[in-house]
Amino acid sequence: MLRTRFCELFGIEHPIVQGGMQWVGKAELVAAVANAGALGMITALTQPTPEALEKEIARCREMTDKPFGVNLTILPTVKPPPLVEYREVIVGSGIKIVETAGFTPVDHLPHLKAAGIKVLHKCTTIKHALHAQSLGADAISIDGFECAGHPGEEDIPGLILIPIAADQISIPIIASGGFADGRGLVAALALGADGINMGTRFMATVESPIHENVKQHLVDATELETDLIFRQLGNTTRVHRNVVSSEVVSILNGGGEFADVRELVVGTRGRRVYEVGDTDLGIWSAGLAQGLIHDIPAVGELVNRIVTDAEKIISGRLAGFVC
Ligand code: NAD
Repeated sequence: MLRTRFCELFGIEHPIVQGGMQWVGKAELVAAVANAGALGMITALTQPTPEALEKEIARCREMTDKPFGVNLTILPTVKPPPLVEYREVIVGSGIKIVETAGFTPVDHLPHLKAAGIKVLHKCTTIKHALHAQSLGADAISIDGFECAGHPGEEDIPGLILIPIAADQISIPIIASGGFADGRGLVAALALGADGINMGTRFMATVESPIHENVKQHLVDATELETDLIFRQLGNTTRVHRNVVSSEVVSILNGGGEFADVRELVVGTRGRRVYEVGDTDLGIWSAGLAQGLIHDIPAVGELVNRIVTDAEKIISGRLAGFVC
């Protein structure tokens, strides 16, 4: 068994987190992750309304009696969602773990803490991690440049970001961005983290609620096939490279503004990719870890494989180096 202080604090068996993923973090996947002994997060903004989130939490509880959390993402959106109402549903539903992500959680943390909720804040800089710690976050998910979605604007890969975070932050740290297997888990622990976050890897699992074509596309893709979009807008986003992402890059590189790409990037269009399996319909998030994905296992098999491989690496290959 691999156990870290993150496991103790969040009441989970394995130091593996399935962080928020727009259109993917639904009850089926989250319950499967929880049943595998890892920590799954329902993505709040994937649900169209706070009421729908309440139902999704109840649906997840029907599929697992293990702990799971909810991700609340605070980032630019085409239509600003009622974040306070989503938060109130999370608190009212008796959820005990929340992952905040994006901008500072300052407006939400006091309410979440007052309800006895453990907060894992995901961010991409040491400055923001220290800020979240000072606000009372229970753990930090530090997201390196390899990640899917929003890597921030500083482009620091995990190999540098994680040990610096470990040097400066006293609460538990989850290493995020580029993790997909047992080797990554061992590396994260060696760098000073207390566990790993995986998004892209969990997309290509049996229980992931997305079209089989997208899962197979992740298996076939290499680490070279992502695009960084929105760099010019200070909202850099890593997506799987396709005809839409290439067009967005070209428009913004040519001096275009958000209004010029809005119809191409709108999330409801990206959602169709996962629903109908046409990977060129819109933008969809994927990290560099797609180059490490070679199969579509059940979540339980994946978590078990990662933990078992990590244990073997630590007690076998690495122990063998010490003489
Ligand atoms: P959306 O349809 O509102 O926007 C589509 C994309 O455009 C998003 O990436 C959004 O950040 C960006 N965007 C919107 N308005 C912008 C502006 N004025 N300037 C610059 N960029 C702008 O978003 P959605 O797909 O419905 O997603 C809802 C929320 O979840 C967004 O905040 C999105 O960023 C976030 N999200 C996070 C991840 C992740 O990896 N954590 C992945 C997907 C989406």
